[in-house]
Amino acid sequence: MAFNIVTKNTVAERFKYAPRPDVWKDVESKDWNNWIWQQQKRVKSFEQLEKVVNVTQEEREAFQATNESFNMGITPYYASLMDKDDPNCPIRLQSVPNKAELNILEGDMEDPLAEERDMPVQGITHRYPDRVLFYTTHNCPVYCRHCTRKRKVADPSSSAANKQIEDGLAYIEAHKEIRDVVISGGDPLSNSDDRLEYILSRLRALDHVEVFRIGTRNLVTLPQRITDNLASIIKKYHPAFIHTHFNHPKECTREAFDACAKLADAGCVINNQMVLLKGINDDPKIVKELNHKLLMMRVRPYYIFQCDLSQGISHFRTPIESGINIIEHLRGWTSGMAVPHYVIDAPGGGGKIPVLPNYVVKHEGKKWVLRNFKKDQFEYIEP
Ligand SMILES: *Cc1c(COP(=O)(O)O)cnc(C)c1O
Ligand code: SF4
Repeated sequence: MAFNIVTKNTVAERFKYAPRPDVWKDVESKDWNNWIWQQQKRVKSFEQLEKVVNVTQEEREAFQATNESFNMGITPYYASLMDKDDPNCPIRLQSVPNKAELNILEGDMEDPLAEERDMPVQGITHRYPDRVLFYTTHNCPVYCRHCTRKRKVADPSSSAANKQIEDGLAYIEAHKEIRDVVISGGDPLSNSDDRLEYILSRLRALDHVEVFRIGTRNLVTLPQRITDNLASIIKKYHPAFIHTHFNHPKECTREAFDACAKLADAGCVINNQMVLLKGINDDPKIVKELNHKLLMMRVRPYYIFQCDLSQGISHFRTPIESGINIIEHLRGWTSGMAVPHYVIDAPGGGGKIPVLPNYVVKHEGKKWVLRNFKKDQFEYIEP
């Protein structure tokens, strides 16, 4: 059989590097591609933001009104993805303050998922029988305006001190039913490589811990953080899963592609947890494009989260119907691999509840009437 051997995989070339806005035009590549440089040069003041995009009066007022309660912080890399002129650019909406954040609705809650209530020790949320969330830092490279943990993130007083890490590890060690640890934050990759390795090695030393996940948005906001050294550390402690948070196809750059490749080549399974956000991704076409790009990046769409009831994010919330509509437009119409679970994290700590379009038309005794993605009906008779 004759065939042409592909000597070069060109999928990477379908992904474009982030553009370099004028303010950072003269930065040397070795700095730009260095995560510590990116971290140190984060856009935190309005004067800095004005040099990157044409800000609006609204954004100025929103910054002044919100900066004390929830800081702005944007890596130059993520800021470079912003549209200079469009305040409704999905990157801008996710990272630049908005006046709507000041609206606190009656139903809004400080801790809608009751993560503090289900906290047996500081730093651990234990809600499900066999797995826990483990908070290891309060810091993130970009402070997402829709963050569900606004109450903690960016607040240095809630920083995970060494004692909190030790208490968390001791709790996991004492609870033999825990087989899955979700390492979270903030963003756990804000920890140094050494600290992260310390946590991973301590977890891996426990016989009852089977898998862990690193819940990080660095692939989206600071892909430079995925260094060879980091990948080689994670590789030592497999099975390691990476849970990340891409929300829009604009975030699927060549930098992000390369970061995912490094982790996937190191043997990590990467899953994506998108948050459904009004005006950003509440459109089946956008989610389909995002999920197709993610699959090319070796990232599997895992969850779509309904936006929760945290304070000051009501402007991002969509009707639940939007989420159902997205699944309706994915299932059957594209690869099953591109169809995540749409879930609502129940207010009050009920956990994640899946919501689906209704595919069962009728069920009587042994007869089930089902409908497919094209709404054609079929009968299935049980034996
Ligand atoms: C989301 C979450 C998990 C992990 O849930 P999976 O459905 O297994 O991904 C674990 N603990 C808490 C408190 C969570 O919110
Ligand atoms: S990266 Fe995650 S924890 Fe950090 S601000 Fe964004 S949504 Fe919140």
